[in-house]
Amino acid sequence: MRDVKHFIGGEFVDSLDGSTFESVSPIDNLPVATVAEGSAGDVERAVTAARSGFEVWSKMSPTDRKRILMAVADGVESRIEELAEWETRDMGKPITASRGKDMPRTAHNFRFFADWAEQAGTHAYAKPWDGVLTYELREPLGVVGSISPWNFPLMLMSWKVAPALAFGCTVVAKPAEQSPITASILAEICNEAGMPPGVFNVVNGFGPDSAGEAITSHPDIDAITFTGESNTGRAIMANAAPTMKKLSFEMGGKSANIVMADADLDAAVVGSLRGFFTNQGEVCLSGTRLLVQRPIYEEFLARLVDGAAEWTVGNPLDEATRMGPLVSQDHMEKVLSYIEMAQDEGAKLMTGGERLTEGELAKGNYVAPTIFADADNSMTVCQDEIFGPVEMVMPFDTVDEAIEIANQSRYGLAGMVWTKNLDTAHRVAREVRTGTMWVNCFFVRDLRAPFGGYKDSGMGREGGDYSYDFFTESKAVVLKLDD
Ligand code: NAD
Repeated sequence: MRDVKHFIGGEFVDSLDGSTFESVSPIDNLPVATVAEGSAGDVERAVTAARSGFEVWSKMSPTDRKRILMAVADGVESRIEELAEWETRDMGKPITASRGKDMPRTAHNFRFFADWAEQAGTHAYAKPWDGVLTYELREPLGVVGSISPWNFPLMLMSWKVAPALAFGCTVVAKPAEQSPITASILAEICNEAGMPPGVFNVVNGFGPDSAGEAITSHPDIDAITFTGESNTGRAIMANAAPTMKKLSFEMGGKSANIVMADADLDAAVVGSLRGFFTNQGEVCLSGTRLLVQRPIYEEFLARLVDGAAEWTVGNPLDEATRMGPLVSQDHMEKVLSYIEMAQDEGAKLMTGGERLTEGELAKGNYVAPTIFADADNSMTVCQDEIFGPVEMVMPFDTVDEAIEIANQSRYGLAGMVWTKNLDTAHRVAREVRTGTMWVNCFFVRDLRAPFGGYKDSGMGREGGDYSYDFFTESKAVVLKLDD
């Protein structure tokens, strides 16, 4: 059991009213941590600390901030085993992913944005015919509230916190209540790296009527960077409106993965399976609507079903496990109810479709890799984000039809197309209304590129200069050049 406190003004503290809650491991549904449960008073303390931290941090040069952020990255790397194990115990992702992907990427996020902030420039607009030069100044935005989800707990928090800090803001962060442990280890690392008090603060707690809502409505927080469900985004937007906060939202998805008959089928099968079973299907970017061109439909389905058998479900601390338990019992029940609904709506179950309860698995929230065929895009299961290892496969005939189906969604986060035809690739990439489109690959990211969603999937973009724009204010200074 771990004792997780808030981190405010450089110190680990209990809640003002002493409240706590338990974080439960999805491996066996037993508690792994006692966590301080924050309320408006704790957020108030954190905002006060962040305000005074801002006076120091925002005035440091990007190079001085970079030295500390690089030390944070080093600290993450030096504690990778410990971080990875707690992440896996807390939310259930395979240890190989925590150790091999999430934690290295967390360290990289700090390095990437520390470098970017040091290099970032501004524009100048010369207008000699009017005798003026206008140049742009960038200033850190202020105190940022960061609210993050449980599916990539530390990695996604660092994707927000690292740029905020690199560009000179201070942060009040709230990790998801299901997975708070690694954020508090990150706080230890920030302290050890020499970060001044109040620059990075963590308040634990829930969303509505709790720490989350207190952050989003606090008058002295200048911006909210949020990743989570689209309905939560709506609630946050409403709560933030009276205090006019700048908002950046990364939300849900129901992405289309389009496989053309001319695709490299070996690559498409492996890529598609990764696209919906990675992280137990708890990935916003998952290609959860799989559109397969009719001439290869039956063959592709058969190969998917064979491939699904290779996604070993088990204790996520076991190195051989490829799929761990779902994050909570509630979430597992929700996923199982969608599996039932898919059958009621007429989709054909090809594999999986059940909770796994053999031996030790009975204690946890394990669901078999599940594939449904002959789905129709109008089904609820093709429109709602299920956020579990459940794939809906449907046939199509023409590129036009595939694009139309892909766009019949309230989401627009990601998409994939598998084809050897360059014209088809460009056309699909252009016409599907989505924030990222992968052609013959999946999950590859360039952190300089825009990351975000169309429609209900997002508001704003993150990455490189997009994060620079969000976490800074821009000022125009107009100089008269001559009399
Ligand atoms: P969630 O919206 O339930 O919770 C996310 C965070 O918001 C948590 O910290 C929660 O405590 C907080 N929260 C909830 N209600 C709040 C409120 N009223 N005010 C303030 N804070 C509140 O999401 P989740 O279940 O943790 O994560 C899964 C969702 O996140 C999925 O929809 C997934 O697609 C999405 N997601 C999106 C991306 C992306 O980059 N677009 C990445 C990962 C996850």
